[in-house]
Amino acid sequence: MMQTVYLGLGSNTGDRQANLDRARACIEAVEGITITRVSSVYLTAPWGKTDQEDFLNQVIEIETELEPLLLLHKLQEIEIKLGRQRYEPWGPRVIDLDVLLYGRESMTSQELTIPHPFISQRLFVLVPLLEIAPQLVFPDGSTVQEVLARAESRPDGNIIQKL
Ligand code: AMP
Repeated sequence: MMQTVYLGLGSNTGDRQANLDRARACIEAVEGITITRVSSVYLTAPWGKTDQEDFLNQVIEIETELEPLLLLHKLQEIEIKLGRQRYEPWGPRVIDLDVLLYGRESMTSQELTIPHPFISQRLFVLVPLLEIAPQLVFPDGSTVQEVLARAESRPDGNIIQKL
């Protein structure tokens, strides 16, 4: 069944904008995926480990028939193709691709948790998500506006800037 899925893209080493552009081109080239919306690019102070370059982040909407795990594996192939190495958990990365939301599905397995476990805390995901999908409703029934309002009220919200 065709599903509407939201993906998070992030890069904080090398030519960060080019890394996002290449990642989108690779995603569009996967058979069974069509990119339907693309957010602005946001500059984000690093999360977790703060002594590294700022991230560029972007959210895209895709239509796909690929099952969640197959989709994750396709994204992981793209991460490796674009030069991502195994690294320290919160360290610098050429490209990070996350499955944020997959239709209205919720799932938890060793490999894949949907919605993405940190989505409701990360302004650099929620702000671009609101930009491209203001009507979006999470699997628990919350609107993206509600989730964003809760995230903004947290004292540790990270600083983001639209480019
Ligand atoms: P990261 O360091 O953010 O790239 O995390 C990669 C790991 O997170 C992979 O081993 C995935 O199996 C796991 N993971 C769990 N849920 C997700 C998700 N929704 N999107 C992407 N990776 C996920």
